Amino acid sequence: MIPQQLTPTEKINILTFSLPKLTAWVGTLGWKPYRAKQLATWLYAKGAQSFDEMTDLSKVARETLAALATIWPLQIVSQQKSLDGTEKFLLQLSDGKRIESVLIPEEDRLTLCVSSQVGCTLDCSFCLTAQQKLQRNLSAHEIVGQVLTVQRVLFDRINGEGTRCRPSQPATYPGITNVVLMGMGEPLANLTQVTEALLQMTAPLGLGFSPRRITVSTAGLVPQMREFLNGPTRANLSVSLNATTNRVRDAIMPTVNRLYPLDQLLAACKEAPLPKRRNITFEYVLLSGINDTPEDAVRLTRLVAPIRCKVNLIPFNEFQSSPYRRPSDATIFKFQEVLLRAKITATRRKSRGRDILAACGQLSSLAFHNPPISVEHNAYDT
Ligand code: SAH
Repeated sequence: MIPQQLTPTEKINILTFSLPKLTAWVGTLGWKPYRAKQLATWLYAKGAQSFDEMTDLSKVARETLAALATIWPLQIVSQQKSLDGTEKFLLQLSDGKRIESVLIPEEDRLTLCVSSQVGCTLDCSFCLTAQQKLQRNLSAHEIVGQVLTVQRVLFDRINGEGTRCRPSQPATYPGITNVVLMGMGEPLANLTQVTEALLQMTAPLGLGFSPRRITVSTAGLVPQMREFLNGPTRANLSVSLNATTNRVRDAIMPTVNRLYPLDQLLAACKEAPLPKRRNITFEYVLLSGINDTPEDAVRLTRLVAPIRCKVNLIPFNEFQSSPYRRPSDATIFKFQEVLLRAKITATRRKSRGRDILAACGQLSSLAFHNPPISVEHNAYDT
């Protein structure tokens, strides 16, 4: 018998249910454990967004699931493509709030940059998301949902709508290969939901990503960093260092640096229990005239030298109303040179999707920056 329909808010969202949780839940319906495997395969390997699509379940089973549970897919409000191939997705959550995810194709990988909060807890002065203030944390299913939603767009492109997700296709090919939590928000301010989402992304019957292919970026919430590093996910950690003195860091990252000044942050990085052959990545946003001098570079080498790390330099991505400027290429190269000479692995991040405000620090779900219609051409893309 099909149970009575619950209201949408009473329904249980099974999107981040791990296999044991799914097994326990189908058990409450009197179903055998293999049903949980079927469900997990539909949810994560085939990207199903409704129970109707689960064609190897009987009609009664599908209606039972639909009466009690939901998958709550995110709505794609708009998609924009940059001249360099980077794509930005504006996604709507069930309460109407919006977030952005960015898909970055590179030669050997396809990275999805996902959001962890609507707005952000922090107030870093060089980041557009900070202007939006925190509206709320995302739940685990909304974090995993970003990967599934974009993955599904990719499947549709390859297979044509309707024939997507052939069962033989592994979940991560030919689609997203890497996930970075570097979109809107401070992931470690939402650690419980982020951890649950990461576990689901790495579970073999979840999305099946290797934890090596997932990176969480933090502005430096030290206690949560320790918890994350000792936690169950084994994903990579990036730390947004961005300054070499507390004076500058206090000015550009006021909330986080007053809570956890540089010495505390670096001590936590030094003590990090890293898996073999893994590093911490320090991100360093280069702001012209603020933190980009050769003296800064020398101080940076001293600060990070005792830590198993690499440094990723991010030339500032400008946005309307931003008080900062991107340094010249010559300044950026000179800064990198100092690190390289000190035998520190230092890379420059290619700024991708700047023409559609999809690059680091340019994400915002404010209607002002994102007209709620699908546009190919952005107002700033002149
Ligand atoms: N809150 C997290 C993750 C989001 S930001 C964090 O702070 O790490 C991801 C990266 O983009 C961070 O390293 C951040 O310092 C950088 N960033 C923010 N705004 C930027 C901008 N306008 N230009 C370049 N990088 C920026």
